[in-house]
Amino acid sequence: MKKRMIISGGGIAGLTAAIFLQKQGHEVTILERAKAFTNAGYLLSLKNFGVRIMEELNLAKPLRQAATPSDFMDFVEGQGNLIRRISYEKMNEGMEPSITLTRGDLHREIHQAVKDKMNILMDTCIDSVDQDAHTVRVTLTTKEILEADALIISEGLRSTTREKCFEDSKLEDFNVFYVGGRLRRNHTYQVGSFKTFIDVHKMLSIYPISRDELAIQCYIYQTQAVSSLRQNARQLLEQTFQNYSVEVQTLMADLVESGLVFADKMGMIHAPNLVNGRILLLGDAGYCPTALSGMGASLSIYGAKALAHFMADSPQDLLQAFTHYNALMQPVIEKFQSNARNNAASFLPKDERNLQAFASAFRNASESEAHRRLTDQIILTPDQRQLVLP
Ligand SMILES: Cc1cc2nc3c(=O)[nH]c(=O)nc-3n(C[C@H](O)[C@H](O)[C@H](O)COP(=O)(O)OP(=O)(O)OC[C@H]3O[C@@H](n4cnc5c(N)ncnc54)[C@H](O)[C@@H]3O)c2cc1C
Repeated sequence: MKKRMIISGGGIAGLTAAIFLQKQGHEVTILERAKAFTNAGYLLSLKNFGVRIMEELNLAKPLRQAATPSDFMDFVEGQGNLIRRISYEKMNEGMEPSITLTRGDLHREIHQAVKDKMNILMDTCIDSVDQDAHTVRVTLTTKEILEADALIISEGLRSTTREKCFEDSKLEDFNVFYVGGRLRRNHTYQVGSFKTFIDVHKMLSIYPISRDELAIQCYIYQTQAVSSLRQNARQLLEQTFQNYSVEVQTLMADLVESGLVFADKMGMIHAPNLVNGRILLLGDAGYCPTALSGMGASLSIYGAKALAHFMADSPQDLLQAFTHYNALMQPVIEKFQSNARNNAASFLPKDERNLQAFASAFRNASESEAHRRLTDQIILTPDQRQLVLP
């Protein structure tokens, strides 16, 4: 049965849900805070199930065309000594290859697929929401009032509508500031080889996308509020990497000055229930697994598919579909958030002793152990892949 759906937040999660719901014949309106979509940000890796869902939407081909080469991951200590080199080809043997691409390219392809098929209201946010047994009513910042059968909140980690509608949800602050972006410049790095510096309370990844473009992401332990960290990003980056090579120091200064940058503090959302009546949380807004998990995009896409699946399964009963979505997602979220917490402890060691323990264990691990450490955590069970309720 055709429903009127409002999706607040036109990022990866919101737009993917929009494609699925529009294909099912629902009437979808998207609200987006930004005046225009930007190309800012670092790289994302769509993992096995994320790739399969994109295949289902006929988007995998353009995404593969936009992908950047991924050959090796070099983990190094602060001064550049190699801890371990990982070959993507060997690591992915027997697995669906992942697609590594910029967040902007992924977003652009998903946006292309929906932009002429539904109403996208840019520069528009929700001011207030109320709901009764049959309808959700939202008042927009433009003062317009919209009514719908359901509201999907997919506004990312810092969602303001979540705060209004899900008072029992909590944002766990990891006290890690991250800056991710891309920088146009000629360089001597090998295209396709990631270089990741692991250090006490900081990590830095440099990824040469092409001969004249680098993607850079760094993570720094910091307890201050995100607004002041964003304001002082340049000094912070300079200070944090002052003992690194001149080349790295110059990159960091140029990134903040002239790169396409996205900066935030790493956080995890804990929502005991992703559903409140006719209002539902999707993507980072409901279950952010942190930037360090590398799973934000894949899980957003998975949630969008799960939502559409259960709506198709219970066409007469939206609330049952939402309950099923929550039941499927909670154990998946628990698994990915727990993996991300372990990643944070390993890849952002809190002192020299932990750094040395990690470096030595990773250096001495057998090839299969090292690969398992990087890939086991990204895999869904067969039931979860097939959206079977627990
Ligand atoms: C421009 C940009 C760059 C990014 N770069 C990186 C990066 O470099 N590294 C990284 O780890 N993650 C980055 N992310 C986050 C990453 O894309 C997400 O973790 C992941 O893709 C999950 O997608 P999502 O759709 O749930 O959230 P997001 O992709 O964050 O999308 C949320 C969308 O909601 C919109 N929005 C926010 N608040 C409101 C509101 N109140 N009303 C209406 N719309 C709202 C945002 O503008 C955005 O379009 C970036 C996000 C954005 C928006």
